[in-house]
Amino acid sequence: MTESDNGFFGRFGGRYVAEILRRPIEELEEAFNKCMNDPSFLKELEEIRADFIGRPTPLYHAKRLSEQLGGAQIFVKLEGLANTGAHKINNAIGQALVAKRMGKTRIIAETGAGQHGVATAAACAKLGLKCRIYMGEVDVRRQQPNVATMEMYGAEVVAVTSGSRILKDAINDAMRDWATNFKDTHYLIGSALGPSPFPDMVRTFQSVIGREVQQQMAEKGRKIDAMVACVGGGSNAIGFFEPFINGTEPKLYGAEAGGIGPGKGNNASRMVGNDAVDGIMQGYKTRFLLDKDGQAGVTRSISAGLDYVGIGPQLAFLGETGRISFDAIRDDEALQAVSTFAKTEGILFAMESAHAGALALKLAPKMNKDQNIVVNMSGRGDKDIFITCPVFRPEEWKQFLKAELERLEAGKDIHFADSMKNSDK
Ligand SMILES: *Cc1c(COP(=O)(O)O)cnc(C)c1O
Repeated sequence: MTESDNGFFGRFGGRYVAEILRRPIEELEEAFNKCMNDPSFLKELEEIRADFIGRPTPLYHAKRLSEQLGGAQIFVKLEGLANTGAHKINNAIGQALVAKRMGKTRIIAETGAGQHGVATAAACAKLGLKCRIYMGEVDVRRQQPNVATMEMYGAEVVAVTSGSRILKDAINDAMRDWATNFKDTHYLIGSALGPSPFPDMVRTFQSVIGREVQQQMAEKGRKIDAMVACVGGGSNAIGFFEPFINGTEPKLYGAEAGGIGPGKGNNASRMVGNDAVDGIMQGYKTRFLLDKDGQAGVTRSISAGLDYVGIGPQLAFLGETGRISFDAIRDDEALQAVSTFAKTEGILFAMESAHAGALALKLAPKMNKDQNIVVNMSGRGDKDIFITCPVFRPEEWKQFLKAELERLEAGKDIHFADSMKNSDK
């Protein structure tokens, strides 16, 4: 099964929303279905994918690494080469385009680490839509580079001060905004989760990844034996797997955040282990990591994009049916994979994607040399220098940050600040 059955994937999914949002969600579903059957919509989407996102993204044969491991041939789908540096733009552009066709003039979104906010802000700039991003105040402080990037793309970033001032609080505020302003506003959800039709919609817009892989491997004259993707909410994984879900081949592997190891609160593993339970939050049912009060629990991961408490309903379903095998990759294994791919192939994985890379490094040696494994590099690692540098070069990085601070405090190159602030008002 690829499509949901009335919004459900087995017992997961659904549309658990406040009454006031039923109509806007139904309108969205109708508009989405209409767009997907409208040749002019599909043509516009195709053009934007080619010229703005930079699709198709390459499929790269990691020959040196495959040779070293002595097992399956490893291929890497380079989603990190898409504009804005990750797969999230595929969905942001798709949904923004649907919203525009619906006559909406304003987009809202929530973001935790900021990556979805960046993709949404870029998509809105490209399509001339107003953009507001909700972000927990704690996250705003932690993710300044992404906040600055969103503002560069012209988005308004709102720091949410309610609750624990993190992602779940930002989601609440975005929901409230939507319920008040749905006439001119679309709520652009960033992963394959939330109330139906979002999981179907996000999978559809991300499935371009899987279709390209299918064609690119066929062009190389190779069959695919295994595919590996990291799973936060699950958008890159479900899009990458989409053309293959209905079959029994290739084998599909999802890499979850194993954090610092087993134990509640030490990771973000919803499928591996027994910490997750069925729950309904944020408009849908899935396996959630909850605290003793049934609220969103504490998770831990080196990668900000994989620490979500839930998992897309379709992935939860396909995990339980056994179509997708899940594995938990620890922080240190992911870091090691970043280093291995960088040094052997000249490819810098994002920390999230490195979880998939690490799993591929484990699988390949157990397979034969004439077998092929495709890894989705969902994003590139430039954004992670604040995580990787303190690990790989702790002392030098501290010195660098100190020097930067001194330079800024001396005020030498911030004399543009005032004029830039007023330039686009
Ligand atoms: C956000 C993000 C993820 C996790 O989100 P999914 O919806 O699970 O794909 C993975 N990789 C990168 C690079 C991201 O930015």
